[in-house]
Amino acid sequence: TERTLSIIKPDATRRNLTGKINARFEEAGLRIVAQKRVRLTKEQAEGFYAVHAERSFFPELVAFMVSGPVVVQVLEGEGAVAKNREIMGATNPANAAPGTIRADFAESVEANSVHGSDSLENAKIEIAFFFSQCEIA
Ligand code: ATP
Ligand code: MG
Repeated sequence: TERTLSIIKPDATRRNLTGKINARFEEAGLRIVAQKRVRLTKEQAEGFYAVHAERSFFPELVAFMVSGPVVVQVLEGEGAVAKNREIMGATNPANAAPGTIRADFAESVEANSVHGSDSLENAKIEIAFFFSQCEIA
């Protein structure tokens, strides 16, 4: 079975939405096989979003990601990467399909409540960024 990395972002932890968001994953058949609540350092946030380093919104994105605790998690299930992207909805909540996490909870294109790996290859890199083998079960 496939695994993907998910992050419940600071706008969502601030509004106490961790349980509601986790219920969406479980209802969709994704299993939370690792999970920890952490406060990212600036260096971690910059490293995690390094692919966006040249984008105009990068400094604001990093500042947002360190503005409060996040919940980093590994989701497991059949087609987990694509399934998670589907239930998250589009990056901009204004474009997110009804019933998706971002349509229901996101505040803005930046404060959009969740991150999900965008490919199986990136999922492996992102899971290894936050978790060691023995933390996943
Ligand atoms: P994520 O990688 O967080 O799952 P995504 O893959 O849907 O989101 P990306 O294009 O990878 O979207 O952008 C990463 C994050 O950067 C977005 O989730 C959002 O928080 C932020 N972001 C993207 N575009 C913008 C923008 N135009 N203005 C502000 N923030 C943005
Ligand atoms: Mg992305």
